[in-house]
Amino acid sequence: MNELESNLVDPFGRAVSYLRVSVTDRCDFRCTYCMAEDMTFLPRKDLLTLEEIDRLCSAFIARGVRKLRLTGGEPLVRRNVMSLIEALSKHRGAGLDELTLTTNGSQLHRFADQLAAHGVERINVSLDTLDPAKFRVLTRWGDFHQVMHGIDLAARAGLKIKINTVAVRGTNEDEIEDLLRWAHGRGFDLTLIETMPLGEIDAERTDQYLPLSLVRTRLSQHFTLEDIPDRTGGPARYVRVRETGGRLGFITPMTHNFCESCNRVRVTCTGTLYMCLGQEDAADLRSPLRASRSDELLHAAIDEAISRKPKGHDFVIDRDSVPALSRFMSATGG
Ligand code: SAM
Ligand code: SF4
Repeated sequence: MNELESNLVDPFGRAVSYLRVSVTDRCDFRCTYCMAEDMTFLPRKDLLTLEEIDRLCSAFIARGVRKLRLTGGEPLVRRNVMSLIEALSKHRGAGLDELTLTTNGSQLHRFADQLAAHGVERINVSLDTLDPAKFRVLTRWGDFHQVMHGIDLAARAGLKIKINTVAVRGTNEDEIEDLLRWAHGRGFDLTLIETMPLGEIDAERTDQYLPLSLVRTRLSQHFTLEDIPDRTGGPARYVRVRETGGRLGFITPMTHNFCESCNRVRVTCTGTLYMCLGQEDAADLRSPLRASRSDELLHAAIDEAISRKPKGHDFVIDRDSVPALSRFMSATGG
């Protein structure tokens, strides 16, 4: 087999080349749309060790995964996570095109230089507001100034930054324009995300849901949005904002079906492989990992799972329904 070509092809002919891995379900924030304040986290023994995560990722890379994103929870609060990043960075140029992560930015002031030194070139930083007081309300525990300092250091270390903003009704909807000007003013891409119904949280989902079609219409009154065909291997659709020259993405799982070009799968911090963010079907990869030192069982489990990757998801936000999926985004890794 040609190791550089994905041989993980699902029943719909889509080659899996992008793996997202949640390295922890823990987080130092409690964003209102993501977690309940009194979250119960998994017992540590259930988590894959960093060595197991390395082995798992290496198996996927050997099968043709070219892009790896670490996420969580907050990936940078996992103890010794830099040793994992260092180990994974050895695959760059040898199968792996990109090693990246999604972070809330709280630990970037500690790790920005090391990330750059380990060959991480781009990161996604989640930021929903530029107002420190609102930031505290939205994240419950976060410190806005610490995140901003981390972003500054990351930019100085040469990391390319994309800002991810979840559009939350009644909370940051009046700030999207400011966020856009700020991000593009600093040379960062901005991607807007619709809330997804994952996990039981304290708030009512329908109160948070703000369709991006509406946000786009509002932005169009002040900016010229020019469709561009860029795809980054993800579900975002991009426009170029003529006035700022920057790139703006929209991730609209609720109003737009992006499944037909899906090239990704996700692994949770316990080694459960989800073939689709919006479906419950999953495969346990921890057992085959722990059953044998050789990767034979692991590859067989991966093959079997990919043969079941579904055609698409079916989220519904509806006031009377329980969350469409009971697991949290922080467990699956957004
Ligand atoms: N802690 C890191 C962070 O916040 O960037 C990584 C994990 S977080 C789960 C990944 C992304 O998922 C973040 O951009 C976050 O805003 C987003 N997210 C969390 N819960 C969500 C939800 N219910 N709907 C839409 N996006 C969500
Ligand atoms: Fe933590 Fe990220 Fe979830 Fe916020 S969105 S609670 S930072 S995992």
